[in-house]
Amino acid sequence: MNKNTDIDCLLIGHNEMSFEDYVKPIRRMSPKTGAYRDLNLNFLQYRDKPYHAAEMFNLFGGNGNHPALSMLNAFSATISYLGTYLHRRGFRFDFVHSFQDEKEELAKKLQRQSIRTAAITTTYYVSVLPILEIVDFIRKYDKTVKIVVGGPFISTQVRSQDPASLEFLFDTMGADFYVNSSQGEAALVNIINALENGDAFDGINNIYYKSDGRYIAAPVSLEDNRLSENMVDWRLFAHSVGEYANVRTAVSCPFACAFCGSPEHAGAYQTASVEDIETEMDQLDRIGSVKSIHFIEDTLNLPVSRFKEILRTKIKNNYKFTWHSYFRCQFADREMVELMKESGCEGVYLGLESGNDRILKNMNKAVTVRKYLDGIKLLKEYGILTHGNFIVGFPGETHRTVRDTVEFIKNSGIDFFRVQLWYCMPITPIWKEKEKYGIKGKSFEWSHNTMDSKTACDLIDEIFLSVEEPIWVPQYNFDINNVFHLLQRGMPLEQVKQFLRAFNDGIKEKLREPSRVEAGKEVIENIKNACRVWNE
Ligand code: SF4
Repeated sequence: MNKNTDIDCLLIGHNEMSFEDYVKPIRRMSPKTGAYRDLNLNFLQYRDKPYHAAEMFNLFGGNGNHPALSMLNAFSATISYLGTYLHRRGFRFDFVHSFQDEKEELAKKLQRQSIRTAAITTTYYVSVLPILEIVDFIRKYDKTVKIVVGGPFISTQVRSQDPASLEFLFDTMGADFYVNSSQGEAALVNIINALENGDAFDGINNIYYKSDGRYIAAPVSLEDNRLSENMVDWRLFAHSVGEYANVRTAVSCPFACAFCGSPEHAGAYQTASVEDIETEMDQLDRIGSVKSIHFIEDTLNLPVSRFKEILRTKIKNNYKFTWHSYFRCQFADREMVELMKESGCEGVYLGLESGNDRILKNMNKAVTVRKYLDGIKLLKEYGILTHGNFIVGFPGETHRTVRDTVEFIKNSGIDFFRVQLWYCMPITPIWKEKEKYGIKGKSFEWSHNTMDSKTACDLIDEIFLSVEEPIWVPQYNFDINNVFHLLQRGMPLEQVKQFLRAFNDGIKEKLREPSRVEAGKEVIENIKNACRVWNE
């Protein structure tokens, strides 16, 4: 082992780029594009600058007792998992959790320590820009460190780009290695080992690297990292976790929703045992600072018996933290919901997608509207907050099916909701039925036999304007997680709703007056007031 190396791998957490820089190129394309219209429902212009809801809250609502509201308030599951993975295999790791907030710290680490690799994770990226910024920053302070980029952004690019475009993208990013795997941690370890021992890289699967001026694509194989052997050791992060932590108890997903490319790529569905989850919860509880955990997988409540056992374990051990998660409400029963309440569930995120049975069938959601309604009724009876997410424009969608969804949103009893334009991806199962549905185009610009993206955008705007209850929750660094964070900060639920209503009024103003750029004075005053009462 090279004794001069202080750190084998420096993990670089999420880069939450300036929202203004994010908006500019999308706005430049045309305000008529699906991408812009989707974005338009999530920000207000104030004093010449676009603000998403969390930024607006931080501008008027911060009371100095908490860090700025951000999706990075919760400790990253990727960093805790990868850090533990490396540590268990004898590697020295370090990390920065938030690239933007910890630039000074990162520069010092790069300048003062000898670092073999820097690993850039890409879980939330939809564009290459945040990666470019990180690579440039690292190169500025350390010319020798090898940069490895992996995660969902890379896997998606590999699956959706032709070889020439992919090569161009890799060149533009300027990293040394790209890992193409739904997991990728074994590839990272193999890269570190090869660098340490001076070995060639041609024996490492699932990577791209440059040799003699061209990219070599290594053979692809499914990494089979067992969750049970790689549970997070939270003691390694005791000083960094803070009040909120993201926790994972499963890999992949047992469903095959037709709009989602995730499970096919992620490999076999694995669930952690209740004993392993108890060990993680014990460690988090002992840290002392943790107030709430977010279980990040899509199907925490499956298998049902395991879910109930997790909740009984939490109750038995009297852990003080609360929790929230995604939830398949068609599997809810009274005992389950009672346990959820008793174990400190703050609320759940429901991927409902449609209020029409035919569209749910097209989506392969394996559920009916009736089952949704029964599950939501139970959750409501026990006072568990619910957020429903919906997609408009999926193949088969018509004006009538959208009307069913609107009726469902209004009458199902959910507390919060959001509707998104269908994002058409060739790597999702529905693409195999392209001919049947007459799908043309992709991303946010598409048409099929029964709708096109422009019509779907118009319908989403109508929903935004017409539904007062439940309350629309904006996306882009806000999301239902930030509703929970505001509640955890002591902001009353009614006031959280008041804040969201005031913010949404500004969006409605934009939709009703398309030539309007700046949010009106009254809207801004109402947002300030919604934050101010809480400050007093
Ligand atoms: S959208 Fe469906 S298939 Fe994709 S992760 Fe969620 S439950 Fe699984």
